[in-house]
Order: sequence, then C-alpha cells, then structure tokens
Amino acid sequence: MLIEAISVIPEVFQPYMDASIMGRARKAGLYELRAYDLREWTHDRHRTVDDAPFGGGQGMLMKAGPIYEAVEDVSSREETKPYVVFFSPCGRTFDQRVAQRLATKERLLFVCGRYEGMDERAYRLADEVLSLGDYVLTGGELAALVVADAVVRLIPGALGDENSAQDESFSDGLLEYAQYTRPATFRDMPVPDVLLSGDHAAVDRWRRESSLERTARWRPDLLEQADLSEGERAFVRRLLEDGQDVGGSDG
Ligand code: SAH
Repeated sequence: MLIEAISVIPEVFQPYMDASIMGRARKAGLYELRAYDLREWTHDRHRTVDDAPFGGGQGMLMKAGPIYEAVEDVSSREETKPYVVFFSPCGRTFDQRVAQRLATKERLLFVCGRYEGMDERAYRLADEVLSLGDYVLTGGELAALVVADAVVRLIPGALGDENSAQDESFSDGLLEYAQYTRPATFRDMPVPDVLLSGDHAAVDRWRRESSLERTARWRPDLLEQADLSEGERAFVRRLLEDGQDVGGSDG
C-alpha cells in the first residue's frame, strides 16, 4: 500500500510512522509513506498557501489553487489513481469499518487542512471527507496519522500475528473482552478462574460474555448493530435490566 500526505508540515509524519509497529511494517515493505510540502505547489516568493475568507471573519483559509495542483501532480506520479481523503470536523466520523474499507485500497492520498480550514472548492477533490470526532484540531495531520495507523495495522502481517486484528474491539461490532497477564493474583485481585483452567471452550464462552457485558456497560449503542444470537440478545437484555451490575470484572 502507498500512503501519501500533503501538508504544510510534512515533517511530522515520519517520526511517528518510523516507530514501533508502524516502522516495522514499513521496513517489511507492507506500506510506503510519502509526505509532501504543499508549498511546493505555490508560485509566489512567500510560498503562500492561505488567504482571508470572502465575506470577512476570523482567521485564514487554505487557498484552493495549491491544493488542486498538489493533488493533481501527486496523483499523476503513479499509474494507480489514489483514493483521496480530506479531513474536517464536518466529515464522516472515522471508525473501524471505514478503516477496514480503506485497508483494501492500493493507494491513499491524505490532504491535511490547517488554519480555519479550506476553500470549499478544494473538497471537490476528495473521494471522502473524514472527521476524527466532535472536536477541533489545529490541523489534519494528526487525523491523517490516526487513520494511517488504524489502516496499516489491518494489513496482513503488520501485527506479526495474523489473528491479532480479528477479535479486537469493533471487529464484530462489540468491545473486546477483558484480558489479563501474569501474575495470576495482583494486589488481592485474582484473574477469573476459567482463564487458568485450560478449558478452551469455557474460555471462549467467558470471553464472549465479557465482550457482551462490556459493550452493554460502556457502549450500549453498539448492540443494535451487533451480530448476536437469540440467546445472546436475551443475556444482554437481562444485563441491561439488572442495570448496575453490568460490567467486566476489571471495572
Ligand atoms: N474552521 C473549521 C475547523 C478548521 S481546523 C471548522 O470549524 O469546521 C483546521 C484543520 O484541522 C481542518 O481543515 C482539518 O483538516 C483538521 N481538523 C480539525 N478538526 C478535525 C477533526 N475533528 N477531524 C479531522 N480533521 C480535523
């Protein structure tokens, strides 16, 4: 996969993407990262990428011109057309399902806004506009890094273990089950017995219930869309009726 980013601070991408799992995945050739400075596509002495908004108002906007030239130029450098993603609080909220869809693309091009945002006409270049959530950042770079991280870890082999990304939170519409590692008892808090039993079927049952409990407690909104059996729906209904008691044993 080729991941590209256009930004006025292109130097911020490399340090994060070089570290730990993202760095290992890149060295293993699972993806390539190219970050471009938007100012390369300006033509004035000051390399201007912003201007005041028509109609007045606070702050500056990114001009459409350099963004069009940058996206067109970068796009033409490879045969495969990139899937172009812009970032804005006005976009569709990024989630695991979007990450899974983006992970199937061969080439992603992220266009990062700054200042008060962009000339509206720039968004016509976007195949998709994504928001991280209902808050305002100073720029799209963190959003691009978040999306890149979530997407790269879905590339087969990126996590080392092929199955790691499979039973995680959101992969089946539920939150992940509670997990524990050594020691078996920590400060008077024992690990649930079943996890030490070696009975794999019992462990699987416990994990599914833990997932259902945690989702019912923290994200009941996810349950409507989740793929549950009749028995599981009844289990969840009982949990929700009991109210207070809903929750994983780790709080
Ligand atoms: N004035 C705009 C916010 C501009 S913030 C508004 O009120 O909607 C500047 C840039 O930061 C945006 O162009 C976008 O690229 C990025 N950004 C800010 N908040 C974001 C969010 N929640 N999700 C994704 N990108 C965001």
